[in-house]
Parts: sequence; C-alpha cells; structure tokens
Amino acid sequence: MSSCLFCKIINGEIPAKIIYRDDDLIVIEDINPVAPVHFLLIPCKHIENSLDIAEEDAALMGRILRVAAKIAKEKNIAEDGFRIVTNTNEAAGQSVFHIHFHLLGGRDLQWPPG
Ligand code: 5GP
Ligand code: ZN
Repeated sequence: MSSCLFCKIINGEIPAKIIYRDDDLIVIEDINPVAPVHFLLIPCKHIENSLDIAEEDAALMGRILRVAAKIAKEKNIAEDGFRIVTNTNEAAGQSVFHIHFHLLGGRDLQWPPG
C-alpha cells in the first residue's frame, strides 16, 4: 500500500534499523522504544490488523511468533521473560495500520498492561 509507513520501510523508501529480514517479514528497532529491547516484527504483506488475518495468513503468523522467540533468545531476554503484543484499533493504541508485533523485554513488564 503506497501510503503505508511500514510498507515504505519494507520497500526501503524510509530507513529503519533492521534486525532481521526474509521474504515474508522484517524485524526493526522501534523508533520510540518503551523497553530496553523493543523490536517490531512486521509481515511484508499489508494486513491492517489482527481483525484482517485470513486463513491463508495462518502459517505467516506462526512464523512471526517463531522468529520472535528466536530473536528473544539471541538478545538474551528469553530466560527472564518477554512480551509479544499486537495492538488492534485505536482504544488499544494502534497507530500504524499495518499489522505488527511488538517484542518487548529487558525489564520487568507490568500486568495488567496500561
Ligand atoms: P502501534 O502504536 O501501532 O501499536 O505501534 C506502532 C509503533 O511504530 C510505535 O511503537 C512507534 O514508536 C513505531 N514507529 C512509528 N513510526 C516509526 C518509524 O518511522 N520507524 C520505526 N522504526 N518505528 C516507528
Ligand atoms: Zn502496509
């Protein structure tokens, strides 16, 4: 989608600190981190949010979770604990309408979240 911020990052039109990428997804550092480790896992396919995940996207969603776990281990936050979050629509705080999964760690995380 030409006007979408994350599509532009995936296409290389807007720079980002890339942690990992393959044909299906990209992992970048969040520009405004809220934890010592704060990455965004973003599928290359433009899906607005969790409400728009199709049956054909099921394997892609599973892959994203597996990559998140791999990166959590590599960044040494796995043992202490980490969180994977996808905000859906405004009341949950979604500000970019291309689905993405926050990977948060490196500090104690409160529950319930704010
Ligand atoms: P949301 O609020 O939609 O759940 O998450 C969007 C995230 O994207 C926010 O944590 C925000 O800091 C991050 N973000 C917004 N614009 C940019 C950008 O241009 N580059 C990067 N790397 N992250 C961004
Ligand atoms: Zn997009």
